[in-house]
Amino acid sequence: MIVPINIKTGTLIQSEIPNQQDIIVGIDLGTTNSLIAYINPQDNLPTIITDEEGNNGLVPSILHFTDNSNWIVGNDARPYLISHPQTTLYSIKRLMGKSYRDIAEHNQLFSYQIIDDDTERLVKIRVNNRFYTPIELSALLLKALKERAETTLQTTISKAVITVPAYFNDAQRQATRDAGKLAGLDVLRIINEPTAAALAYGIGTASDTNTSETIAVYDLGGGTFDVSILRIEEGVFEVLATNGDTFLGGDDIDRAIVQYWITQCPDLGINKSMYRELRLRAEQAKKYVSDNHSTYSHVTQIFEFGTAIILALNPDELRQILLPFIERTLTCCRQALSDAQLTTTEVDKVIMVGGATRTPLIRQKVSELFGKPVYNELNPDEVVALGAAVQADILAGNQRDMLLLDITPLSLGIETMGGLMDVIVPRNSKIPIRAARQYTTQRDGQSGINIAIYQGERDLVKDNRCLGEFVLRGIPAMPAGLPKVEISFTIDADGITRVRATELRSGVAQQIEVKPQYGLSEEEMSQMLLESVRHAQTDRDTRALQEAINEANTLADTADHFIVRHADMLSTDEINLTRDHIAALRQSLSSNDKDLIHTYIETLNTHTRPFAERVMDAAVAMAMKGKQALSNDILE
Ligand code: AMP
Repeated sequence: MIVPINIKTGTLIQSEIPNQQDIIVGIDLGTTNSLIAYINPQDNLPTIITDEEGNNGLVPSILHFTDNSNWIVGNDARPYLISHPQTTLYSIKRLMGKSYRDIAEHNQLFSYQIIDDDTERLVKIRVNNRFYTPIELSALLLKALKERAETTLQTTISKAVITVPAYFNDAQRQATRDAGKLAGLDVLRIINEPTAAALAYGIGTASDTNTSETIAVYDLGGGTFDVSILRIEEGVFEVLATNGDTFLGGDDIDRAIVQYWITQCPDLGINKSMYRELRLRAEQAKKYVSDNHSTYSHVTQIFEFGTAIILALNPDELRQILLPFIERTLTCCRQALSDAQLTTTEVDKVIMVGGATRTPLIRQKVSELFGKPVYNELNPDEVVALGAAVQADILAGNQRDMLLLDITPLSLGIETMGGLMDVIVPRNSKIPIRAARQYTTQRDGQSGINIAIYQGERDLVKDNRCLGEFVLRGIPAMPAGLPKVEISFTIDADGITRVRATELRSGVAQQIEVKPQYGLSEEEMSQMLLESVRHAQTDRDTRALQEAINEANTLADTADHFIVRHADMLSTDEINLTRDHIAALRQSLSSNDKDLIHTYIETLNTHTRPFAERVMDAAVAMAMKGKQALSNDILE
C-alpha cells in the first residue's frame, strides 16, 4: 500500500489513506462449506477471500475441538471427522434454531452428541464436558472466516452480510444474526441465498436494465436441495415461493453409488471403515464421470480378505443412478412454480447454485424443464458468497440502494376470545411490514391483557404454533370495552418480528421480539399449510361457532349488567323476562349449534332494544336539562 506523507511536516496524511475499515464482507455460512467475499476495490468485482497463500476459497464448515478451549476450523479440522467423531462437528447449520424434537428422526446423521435438555428447548451439543449452542458453534466458524479475511486483506473486519436459505424462519434468522454478533460482526443484513445468487449475476442491480423479471434459483449442494422463485421489479426482490428437500444432495448420490457397488458384490462384508472408503471413492467417481464423461475405475484392497476389487462407474451407470434424484428435485421445482402460480415459460432466468449442479445431466434436465439454458458461468460453490458481497457493497452505499423484499411464509397473529386466531400479518405478506389492529378489554377495571402470538393458518390457536407470550400491564381502570389496545407487528427486512401492545388512551406499552422456542423445518411448514387446506371447512365451522359463542357471552354479560344498573327504569316483568331470555341464550351455548345461538342472540337483542332506547332518551332529556349524564358508558 502507498501511504501519502505530508512532505512539509513529515506526517501521514490520514484522510487520504483508503478507509479499509469500511470493507463490508459477504458471508455464505453453508451446511458443508462456507465462504467469505468482498468487492475488490481494484476492479470493483466481487471476489472470494482465499487464505494467505491464495488457496482454498471454500472453508469446510467443520469444527474440531482439540480440548475445551482450543479448536480448529475448516480443512484442518476435516481429518478429525473420522478419527475423533465426538469432538468434530459438522452440519451445524441444520441445528440452528432447532429443538431436539425437530431433529430427532435425523439424529443418527450426527456423530457428535446432541443433547435433549428438558429445560432448554433448543438443542445443545456436548463436546467433552462442555455444552455449546449451535449459535456459539456457528460463531466460531464465522470468527474463523473473519480472521481469514483480516489476515488476507490486512485490515479489521467488523461488518458483514450473511446469507440464509429463503425458507429459514424467524428463529433461524435470529440465530444466524446472533452468531454473527458473537463472532464480533455487526450483521448489517441477513439475505436469502437465492437473492444473493441473483445479485452475483448482476440481476436486479443498477446495471441491469430489465424492470421486471422472474427467476428460478436451483440450489443442489452436498446435503440439501432448495428451489426458489423470485420476482425482481425495479431492484426489489420478492420471494414468490420456495420448495426443496433438506435431506437431498450430492452426498445422497454418493451413497447411492456405494449402494450400487455393494449390490454388484453381494458377498462383500462391509464394515464401517470400508464403507467410508467406498463413500470417498464414490464421490471421486461421480466427479470424474461428470467432468470427463468417461468411465472411472479404481482398484481397492479389502484388507480382511486380502483381495482387491475394482470400483468402476461408467456414464450410463451414473445416469441411471442420478435420474431418480433429479426427478425429485424437478418435482420440487414444479411445486414451487405452482405455489407461485407460474408456468415454466413465465420464468425468465434459471440460476444454478451448489457444487452438485456441475453434473451436466442435472443442468440438462433443469434446462429442459424450464425450456431455456441455465446460468452456470459463475462457480456454483461461490455464487452465493459473491452475491452477498454485492449486497454488502450496496449497503456500503457504493451502488444504488435496493430494497430486498421477502414474504412471510406463514400468517402471524394473536389469540382472541375463545382461542381463536386473529391474523394480523397474513401469509405471503411482503416484508418489511408493519401491521396493527385494535382490541379492548373484556372486564371492568381490567389492568392487564395477555398477548399470545401465533404463527399458522388454522382458525384455532391450539392448531397453530405459539411464538411467544407477554402481558401488557398497568392499564388504568376503565369500564370493559373502553381501553384501546393496539397490537402491532413489525417485521424488518431480516424477517425479525417485534410485537408491541399499546393502550392508546394511557400510552402504556410493552414490546417483545419474537424468538420462537424452537425452529420449524420446511417440511413442517408445508405440513402446516397442507393441514390448513385439509381442515378448511371444519375450521370455518369451528370459527363461526366460536364467534357466535363469543357474541352470545358478551351480549348476555352486557344485558345482565344493564338490568342491574337500570333496574329503576324497568318493570319487574321486564326484568324477569330479560333474565329468562339471558338464561335461554346461555342454555343455547351447549347446543353447539351456531344458528340456534344466533336465533337466541336476535331474540334477546330484539327484547332489550326498546329498553336501551328508553335509557338513552332519559339520558338525553337529563342532559338537555343541563344535568349530568346518567351513565358514562352509555354516552361514550
Ligand atoms: P456444496 O455443498 O454446494 O459445496 O456442494 C458440494 C456437492 O457438490 C458435493 O456433493 C460434491 O460431491 C458435489 N460436487 C462438487 N464438484 C462436483 C463435480 N465436478 N461433479 C459433480 N458433483 C460435484
